[in-house]
Amino acid sequence: VTHDHPPGRVVAVLGRGLVAADQPILRADDLGALRGEGIFETMHVRAGQAWLLDAHLDRMTRSADRLSLPLPDRTQLVELAELALSAWPAAEGALRLSVTRGPEDGGPPTVYATVFAVTAPTRAARRDGISVLTASLGYPVHARTSAPWLLGGAKTVSYAVNMASQRWAQQQGAQDVLWISTDGYALEAPTSTLIWLDGRRLCTVPATSTGILAGITAQWLLSHADELGYEAAEQLVRPAELAGAAGVWLVSSVRGLAEIRILDHVARPACEATAKLAAVLGFPD
Ligand code: PLP
Repeated sequence: VTHDHPPGRVVAVLGRGLVAADQPILRADDLGALRGEGIFETMHVRAGQAWLLDAHLDRMTRSADRLSLPLPDRTQLVELAELALSAWPAAEGALRLSVTRGPEDGGPPTVYATVFAVTAPTRAARRDGISVLTASLGYPVHARTSAPWLLGGAKTVSYAVNMASQRWAQQQGAQDVLWISTDGYALEAPTSTLIWLDGRRLCTVPATSTGILAGITAQWLLSHADELGYEAAEQLVRPAELAGAAGVWLVSSVRGLAEIRILDHVARPACEATAKLAAVLGFPD
């Protein structure tokens, strides 16, 4: 397999079928584009299939509930995903399902699926690990649990803050950000979930009480903790404690496992557990 010439992008639109990747599919007044009113899910494609599709559709349903967004039937979403994947020529890739609120004056939501290639920087992060900077998200750790309008836990298309956070890190030569609450707890990264080793405990940040996104990759990995000889745990953590952990990673659906090798400009020794965690997760090199 060569990754030098990644295939283009596949696009499938609910009600229209497969369309050319350069074909316009949103109206000018689509509320997804005007107000960021939409939700999405991104999944890893392996052996031509969407990995953990059911868990992603469950989370999409929860996101839709939080935005009071009408979602098509689950079977329609599954068929749309399958249609897009049927046109994807490679074994590996990424599948994104997007649902926006649709036209401003009312009308059905805009629903589409895209399949695209995993990029070289993403592969490099899996292989070599990443440099991460901590940055304040501006909220106390529990602020979002009692403020449903802040949409904690919903995967919305309003990702401008997430992308700006990553650009800020990249401008300083790092690859990613770890968001910190104003009261000093690690939350999550703009597109991935924090995992760390605390002795024999494989830990992540609790989602419900903090408003972070409940990461599907992290949940899957923690549900296999016993196979790895670990105990799964959810707890709050401060950056100073992470600095002393034997292993710290960011996990997400497309990048998979990326070990944090530099945290706030301080190099960390490579963790021996990285290879076995990566093997269980099964992302290609
Ligand atoms: N946190 C945020 C904010 C994300 O956008 C994502 C995924 O893109 C994740 C965590 C990781 O979640 P998952 O493992 O379901 O991809």
